[in-house]
Amino acid sequence: VTEHLLKILIIGDGNVGKSSFVHRYVNGQFNKTYKMTVGVDFSVKLLNWSEKEKVRLQLWDIAGQERFISMTRIYYKGALGCVVMFDVTSSSSFLNCRLWKQDLDNKAMLLNGDSIPCILLANKCDLTQRVVSADSINRFSKANGFVTWMETSVKENKNVEQAMRLATTPLPWW
Ligand code: GDP
Repeated sequence: VTEHLLKILIIGDGNVGKSSFVHRYVNGQFNKTYKMTVGVDFSVKLLNWSEKEKVRLQLWDIAGQERFISMTRIYYKGALGCVVMFDVTSSSSFLNCRLWKQDLDNKAMLLNGDSIPCILLANKCDLTQRVVSADSINRFSKANGFVTWMETSVKENKNVEQAMRLATTPLPWW
């Protein structure tokens, strides 16, 4: 059995739902008070990709450093995929996705020189106070080189699995 290590980054402004997303995906739970322990860099989920191939998925959530909109290269190093998340009720978190994507592309790439495949997630789509339209997300996603985008609600467990499936499919070995 071969085990692949797969590092995926989850970036975006604070309070958009990144830790909740990771927690939901890895532990199958949503709780309002959940906060990732300070000092823990990543969560792990083991996937049985096939009889012979297992994937050790490392999800790197930037826990608490998001107001800088800039991470060290070390943090991005070795990532094979990325999720940029914003909150549909916050236009600033949406606008900042451009900066997050630029920061990533400036500091990291795949070994073959390609940019790291990145998907855009529009979280909290359960809320009615939405200020970012599907139309503008669609345009933005194309203009900024995202592989694709998707609406999620970590709260209602909508598209969490599907989003992670998308985030892990453009990758080299499958
Ligand atoms: P982070 O700072 O990006 O890691 O965001 P958190 O995971 O700490 O979430 C910030 C707040 O948004 C918390 O109060 C979460 O319970 C809430 N939240 C996360 N996802 C959703 C969602 O899909 N819908 C709603 N309504 N609230 C959410």
